[in-house]
Amino acid sequence: MRFWRYSKMKITLNPHAKDAATRDALVAEGGFGKYYTDHMVICEWDEKSGWAEPELVPYGPITLDPATAVFHYGQEIFEGMKAYRQPDGGIALFRPEANAKRFARSAARLALPEMPVELFLETVETLVKQDAGWVPNKVGESLYIRPFMIATEVGLGVRPSNKATYILIATPAGAYFDPSKAVSVWISTEYVRASQGGTGEAKCGGNYAASLVAQKAAAKEGCDQVVWLDAVERKWVEEMGGMNLYFVKGKGADATIFTPKLTGTLLPGVTRDSILSVAADLGYKVEEGMISTTDWQDGIATGEITETFACGTAAVVSPIGQAKSAMGTWVTGDGQPGTITMQIRNHLLGIQHGNIEDKHGWVKRVI
Ligand SMILES: *Cc1c(COP(=O)(O)O)cnc(C)c1O
Repeated sequence: MRFWRYSKMKITLNPHAKDAATRDALVAEGGFGKYYTDHMVICEWDEKSGWAEPELVPYGPITLDPATAVFHYGQEIFEGMKAYRQPDGGIALFRPEANAKRFARSAARLALPEMPVELFLETVETLVKQDAGWVPNKVGESLYIRPFMIATEVGLGVRPSNKATYILIATPAGAYFDPSKAVSVWISTEYVRASQGGTGEAKCGGNYAASLVAQKAAAKEGCDQVVWLDAVERKWVEEMGGMNLYFVKGKGADATIFTPKLTGTLLPGVTRDSILSVAADLGYKVEEGMISTTDWQDGIATGEITETFACGTAAVVSPIGQAKSAMGTWVTGDGQPGTITMQIRNHLLGIQHGNIEDKHGWVKRVI
């Protein structure tokens, strides 16, 4: 396998890079996905020669032939990860190998080339180092990193593309978490996100394209997000929008932190996986299993389920207040973010920002 080092990677700096004052003002605006950093990384693959050397280039539009495969058959995958400012002013990534490995698994499912983990990590580190000034400073803020890959063979024949392009972009993400507001969810029995043998475990754009109509239905019901059930019985709770789900059963030190198990149709979230460890570190029992909509509704009615939250890289942890479905509406606790939810959120953020000891070796310093 070939290894690329920063010094060897082709670098073309952006002559129009923002000056520090302009950049700092854009970062201070907060938000998410509004501004992009000065550079991006591109790496081409073709069947004959494999991966070319990645190049760091000025951020900007790309030109593609209208007959490019991705536009027609949706052969595309992506990742989402973050760089966090550390107490000494340095910058760290959180479990980047987990994203690199998942990217390769998604690629395999979508018949795209698997990018070597070392190459993926090299591109991420290079971009973060180059555009370090775009990483915000406060806890809860970060630089959101979006690697993606598209099929770039030109032609309308339906077959796995013999060319692919990997692109890496980054955008500053503000602390858009509002602790006073819990999310409301619509449990969809009409639409499904994934079925056995499908692409539910892969992080691909197609999953999202198919989900947007359900998101619209949720909005029509006055809900912020959609909750997905299994495709066969339409009864087992899987995940929420683009985040995994957690339920807190019981209260205080005796509480159990429960999450739907990975049945092959759920997206295996890095945050989900990290919370299994964090909750155990905090002394809670953790459990992965099956939970039906009836279990959820009954658990609320009997008081067994005391808190519900969603988790993912973008929002870290998002408390869920109200759940609504064809079977009725129920509210977790007092509809406000739960105590254990907030404890887990703060603990995970603490590790990511270097304020809490990283027992698991998750934090990788870039600078
Ligand atoms: C990305 C994603 C998640 C969360 O994964 P993280 O690695 O924690 O960010 C959950 N569900 C879906 C459908 C996703 O695409």
